[in-house]
Amino acid sequence: MQKKRYRVRIIIPAVIVLTALVVILNIFLSLKFSALNNALIDEKLAANINSLKLYLDNSKANSRMAAVSMALNPNAIKAIRDRNTNELLNLFTPTHDLYRVNFYTICDNEGIVLVRTHEPEHFGDSVLNQQNIKNALTGKTTTYFETGTAVKVSVRTGSPVYDTDGTLIGVISAGIRFDSDSTVKELKRLFNSEVTVFSGNTRIATTITKNGQSIAGSTLDPKIAEIVIENKQGYFGDAEILDEKYKTFYMPLINAHGEAFATFFLGIPKAEIIAVSNKSIRDGIILSLCGLAVSAALLFLIVSSINEPAAKSLGGMDHIADGNLRKLLTAINIMAVEHEKDRSDHSLNIEEFEGDYKTLAQGVLKIASTGMTDQVTGIPNRRHFNNRMNWEWKRAMRDNVPISILIIDIDNFKTYNDSFGHQQGDLVLQMVAKTVAQSIKRSTDFVARWGGDEFIVLLPVTCSTGAGIVSERIRTEIEKVLLPFVKDLSVTASIGVHTQIPTFDKTAEDFISIADRALYLAKESGRNRVVFAETAQ
Ligand code: GH3
Ligand code: MG
Repeated sequence: MQKKRYRVRIIIPAVIVLTALVVILNIFLSLKFSALNNALIDEKLAANINSLKLYLDNSKANSRMAAVSMALNPNAIKAIRDRNTNELLNLFTPTHDLYRVNFYTICDNEGIVLVRTHEPEHFGDSVLNQQNIKNALTGKTTTYFETGTAVKVSVRTGSPVYDTDGTLIGVISAGIRFDSDSTVKELKRLFNSEVTVFSGNTRIATTITKNGQSIAGSTLDPKIAEIVIENKQGYFGDAEILDEKYKTFYMPLINAHGEAFATFFLGIPKAEIIAVSNKSIRDGIILSLCGLAVSAALLFLIVSSINEPAAKSLGGMDHIADGNLRKLLTAINIMAVEHEKDRSDHSLNIEEFEGDYKTLAQGVLKIASTGMTDQVTGIPNRRHFNNRMNWEWKRAMRDNVPISILIIDIDNFKTYNDSFGHQQGDLVLQMVAKTVAQSIKRSTDFVARWGGDEFIVLLPVTCSTGAGIVSERIRTEIEKVLLPFVKDLSVTASIGVHTQIPTFDKTAEDFISIADRALYLAKESGRNRVVFAETAQ
């Protein structure tokens, strides 16, 4: 009962609160993370744009470092002078890897090409290349970020090579090109974005593919590429490419003369980011749900294991215990009033006890017994007897055993009462009650005041012989006790006795009324005697 109440009062509200928390958390997370999705895409695009700028700047630095360091290499100087092509190739390869250079040209001081890469495509005649070599032959180290006819978009540095006596013996030109799909693939890997390079409004390399094929130039908006070149300004936008949504950025490439000649396109597929962040949202929600479920389960276990004393020991549970106690006291007080309508002094007040549960229990017991006790004699009253009688009647019927009953009435009590007063009469009643109570020996025997000067005795599992013995003992004991007190031979006791094995067709009331009839006969036949109903009939 207590557990059930704790469940109702604690678990159900706790579950409601937890459910509300989950709902609020879900709404909060959905709102938060849909905003976060967009923020993540913007952030990622911005980060990639910065990476691209850095990469392009480094491309210039790397090609310059490669060209200059090679030009200063004594072995390279010797190889150029000796026109040793194999040696130059061997020397350049490590530098090429080190500086991420993907093409180079080495010429002698006449501009005659000694070595040039053939990868990824054949080149060597571009305007850019000629410009670099031309500059290097005049002793200038220059870097161009430019487009040409053979190489559409690249960055290249040309550097002169001098002998130990200061004679110009050749030039080295090294560079990185962006006009091949393999280079943009490398950029895609680095930036984790789709990359497309436009020369003017012509797409020259891309990583956006469908069914293994690069997309057509028109799929990305070439007009935007053109506008970007015209305005020399970056362009942020959204695009739908091959049914996929992208956050996009077009970036102009500007050459040494301040002219925009190419556009880099970066595209972040939204779905990828959303999928990643959605997964983390899902994981987050699942994790929080698991957390909440574990807390709910723990709460359930803790609360379920609480019993009343334990609840009292938890400070916060005191009010629950008090609440129940109040209900208990109310019930007891109602019971007390019902039983003893004029005895309101028997009600209990919880404040009087202040946690002294032992005293409270004693009070409760007192009230409970008050309702069942005769106030004059202190022995059980008629109500108490009826309860016991019904119970014993059923039990005797079930067990098919005899039950006996004695109704005792004080003889000529009215006269005594009238002569000596009510108080004196009460003393007689008390003496009789005590005498009868002492005359019965078995723990199952039961004596009560039946009303007025009548007492009733119930002797379960007792045959008429036994009932006769007890009755006679009671009669003589009363005589013995009262005679010295009342000094009147007539104040004695008459007893009607009845013994029966209960049957379904008879009630306890029938049983008592037969004993009552025997008592009547006892009075009729002269008082101070025992009459058996069985004999009388
Ligand atoms: P009988 O021999 O026929 O029994 O006559 P009786 O005078 O005893 O008359 P009866 O049993 O009919 O009267 C019972 C009397 O008991 C009536 C009343 O004066 C007295 N009585 C009833 N209840 C109380 C009580 O609580 N206290 C006192 N002192 N007397 C009571
Ligand atoms: Mg009487």
